[in-house]
Amino acid sequence: MFMPLPASVQTVLRVLSQGGFDAFPVGGCVRDRCMGLEPHDFDVATSATPDEMRQCFAASRTPDTGLRHGTLTVLIGHEPVEVTTFRVDGAYKDHRRPEQVTFTTALLPDLARRDFTINAMAYDNGQIIDPFGGQADIASRMIRCVGDADTRFDEDALRILRAMRFAATLSFSIEPGTADAMRRQKELLRMISVERIWAEFQKLLCGVNAPAVLTAFADILRVFLPETDEAGLRLLERSSADAAVRLALLLPKQHAQQALDRLRVDKKMMRAVTQLHEMQPLPMRKMLSAYSYEQVCRFWLYQCARGERTAEEAGALRREADALLSEKPCLHIGDLAVNGNDLADTGLQGAEIGLALQRLLDGVLEGTLQNDRTSLLRALDTHRP
Ligand code: ATP
Ligand code: MG
Repeated sequence: MFMPLPASVQTVLRVLSQGGFDAFPVGGCVRDRCMGLEPHDFDVATSATPDEMRQCFAASRTPDTGLRHGTLTVLIGHEPVEVTTFRVDGAYKDHRRPEQVTFTTALLPDLARRDFTINAMAYDNGQIIDPFGGQADIASRMIRCVGDADTRFDEDALRILRAMRFAATLSFSIEPGTADAMRRQKELLRMISVERIWAEFQKLLCGVNAPAVLTAFADILRVFLPETDEAGLRLLERSSADAAVRLALLLPKQHAQQALDRLRVDKKMMRAVTQLHEMQPLPMRKMLSAYSYEQVCRFWLYQCARGERTAEEAGALRREADALLSEKPCLHIGDLAVNGNDLADTGLQGAEIGLALQRLLDGVLEGTLQNDRTSLLRALDTHRP
């Protein structure tokens, strides 16, 4: 199979090969290409040690990212390419990380340490190197561990969540032996840092097949998200692929904050979920004034999943919002045709100014006031105590 490679990756492969080293694109990019998808990045694995990689790329910029772990980021022009030395993982400590990694000059052991067969392939000049049957598993749309599943989850329990993530994003099923081992080993997820959990869980939540995967593996989900609500889980089926909408459905309002704090979810996501729980339908202008456009669209999707509106209604509302926004309407105090100085000139002082601006904005949002200077200043006179 011919796999087109970006020029930057070709350069990296050529430089390493000229230095006398083996180097292959590996992992996700090979999987994606075998599936006919466009890879979003290309990882290269090589027999060169970190020092040897540095020598090979002495002329390129190599911002220090993870060289201690055997990964060098090489900038070809502005394109970063990650190059990692072939490695074998030593014994695993705490079900999280290998105690030490050993660099090796052979590709096979490097592929063998990878999590799933579909992720354990490399590309070599028109050939796919596929020692564990990754292509067959892609053909049957199957996530399967490389080697003994219980051992692999015991080594690194995050793989349990990664299996769910790939099943959700690729719409693959999980091979029954692998699924059984995930359930047997699920408690080990407690050993994994919340940052690693959240990174995978967030990707999982956005997967097209997330509702089915989370329902089938609800027992695993509850290990790190015991707040998961049974009724919310059932609503997921009708939800669109938005992480905040899905979290707002899964988590009951009274437990959401605590659960998201524990997962150290970023502030933006936290706010999106909390707002979804609190939002009420408002007239369009008020809605777009109070919340971002993105959040308002999310709210309609959330309502759809809860059966509070139909997808057609949500679509019509979105078109209405788009049409309104294209007119550049006045939605915020800063959009008013008068500002604080104008109001100060009329004799208002201090806090009165803010209150008056807010009152004017309310009038404009309600449609009782035109957003032009004369109307606004006149309205101010009428309301003046
Ligand atoms: P994506 O397209 O989402 O980036 P990916 O397959 O590239 O998918 P990464 O998390 O970027 O996933 O990991 C790169 C590769 O490293 C994987 O394809 C897999 O071969 C290997 N890998 C990553 N995490 C693990 C892990 N916990 N255990 C074993 N192998 C792993
Ligand atoms: Mg990747």
